[in-house]
Amino acid sequence: MTYQHSFEDGTPCQLPAGKVVCVGRNYVDHIKELDNPVPTEPILFIKPATSLQPFSEPVIVPAYSHNCHHETELAVLVGEKLFCGDRESADKAIAGFGIALDLTLRDIQQGLKEKGLPWEKAKAFDGSCPISPFVKKEQLANPQDTMLKLLVNGAVQQEESTKLMITGILDLMAYMSAFFSLMPGDVILTGTPAGVSQLNSGDRLDLELDGRFRYTVSVA
Ligand code: ZN
Repeated sequence: MTYQHSFEDGTPCQLPAGKVVCVGRNYVDHIKELDNPVPTEPILFIKPATSLQPFSEPVIVPAYSHNCHHETELAVLVGEKLFCGDRESADKAIAGFGIALDLTLRDIQQGLKEKGLPWEKAKAFDGSCPISPFVKKEQLANPQDTMLKLLVNGAVQQEESTKLMITGILDLMAYMSAFFSLMPGDVILTGTPAGVSQLNSGDRLDLELDGRFRYTVSVA
């Protein structure tokens, strides 16, 4: 399986699939549900390009985990290089928006956290970032106040506005770009609101962005 970025409207996307730069603990209600401390600055981690897969492919939970959580997040497609950027240059660098799952092997992550070890085995495995086609930037009137919604087997599990992010999209991108060059084709994940829960084989996930863009993915 080779993943390629695509646009919701069917126009071709030439941007190569790059890395996925993510933030942990960016919504207060999610921090509380996992009993984590509120961070004083964004907690960053990266998923490799091999984590990306389209919603048309089923989610596959690695055999070494027995507790894979969904985290529903607003995704940003980077269209221009951003290094040590500010809010203005971050805004210019955005090519589009999508909705993604930051799949997290909670049992593995817990073990790593307790030992103070990096999270990659829990967060960066192949297929750990199922993602939608991208909506072009101008199609989303207010990305900082748009609804993210996830239904699991028909029941609402996550539903929140992106206005509740602790660090907003542009500040987050500027912060990230101080540490890592954001390159054309990279993706930013902006954190999950509350409602994360365990996925089970056979689950049907329905995702909705901005009340308009709907996608379905299954769990193998
Ligand atoms: Zn996340």
